Amino acid sequence: MRLLLTGGCGFIGSAVVRHLIRNTDHSVVNLDKMTYAASEDALEAARHDPRHILVRADVADAAAVRQAFATWQPDAVMHLAAESHVDRSIDGPGEFIQTNLVGTFVMLQEALRHWRGLSGEAAKNFRFHHISTDEVFGSLGEDGLFREDTPYAPNSPYSASKAGSDHLVRAWTHTYGLPTVATNCSNNYGPCQFPEKLIPLMILNALEGKPLPVYGAGANIRDWLYVDDHAEALLLAVERGRIGESYNIGGINERKNIDVVHAICELMDEMAPDAEIGPRGNLIAFVSDRPGHDQRYAIDCAKIEREFGWRPRETFETGLRKTVRWYLDNQAWWGDIRSGRYRGERLGALTD
Ligand code: NAD
Repeated sequence: MRLLLTGGCGFIGSAVVRHLIRNTDHSVVNLDKMTYAASEDALEAARHDPRHILVRADVADAAAVRQAFATWQPDAVMHLAAESHVDRSIDGPGEFIQTNLVGTFVMLQEALRHWRGLSGEAAKNFRFHHISTDEVFGSLGEDGLFREDTPYAPNSPYSASKAGSDHLVRAWTHTYGLPTVATNCSNNYGPCQFPEKLIPLMILNALEGKPLPVYGAGANIRDWLYVDDHAEALLLAVERGRIGESYNIGGINERKNIDVVHAICELMDEMAPDAEIGPRGNLIAFVSDRPGHDQRYAIDCAKIEREFGWRPRETFETGLRKTVRWYLDNQAWWGDIRSGRYRGERLGALTD
């Protein structure tokens, strides 16, 4: 297949591109606006592989997207490009509406135009795969899991923009017949994640002996999915997903935020001991909670296991160890970001 993949220089998109180039014969046209969150280095060897082409463009730019479809004639689309950080959506929701909603609308319109020009097997096999989040389902209490048919109840500007984009995807199938498939996943972690997100922020602050800011009491619970496991599941979904269906993808690894931070501290003390800094647990600092912070997310991913036989390979322990190792070994990747684009400051606190 030739895939048109958006957001391929981001955290998850780059993992998908690396997976495609390493483990399949597919080629990939990577359409990315190269925002603060993008990194060409995250593509590693795929960056220079002839089966990978980078197109710098905005998904909300209809002319550029139309040109990409016309030039590259993709067999399928994987739409990952988004503004993705909840805290930034609290500070500035406009970009989230523009990229996540308007951008998805443009992608759907141009995919529809392209698909209508196809015939035979190409039209039958075409897929528009939309990558979304479990945050669209809102917040869980102590029990229960998000299923594919859980009602939507997004609470942050980010999750509302993603929920809106999911609804557009659904409507483009029901109204226009565009063959779409959607996936909703839990919190990803792993190599090449921009260090504004919990796990890389804690690893790098712990390495530098800086405070480890934990929102509220750290009691919020998330399910953690190793990014390479996610990349495998995404490829199965675009290859085999049934039209109009959505699939939940989770790591089967629920953890309280404070337990995640403690686990990172222990690994850092073991893998990067520093007598001057001392035990990293002493760096934990509780700070004001995120406004509207959802209490718990947890995923029932029985459907994707039943239909494609997919299960995550990594436990939280194995995935976190790999992640810490990667950040310790790849200062060249995050050093520039930490000294320029994002220095670890608090985002999305409203009153701070
Ligand atoms: P990211 O922020 O790391 O990367 C986003 C990428 O999209 C960047 O390369 C950026 O340059 C690109 N981009 C942003 N706006 C664009 C635009 N207007 N046009 C073209 N490219 C644009 O995000 P991520 O963590 O890799 O997330 C990828 C997708 O997965 C998103 O749709 C996100 O909502 C979803 N998701 C992420 C997580 C997670 O834990 N990271 C969880 C659930 C769902």
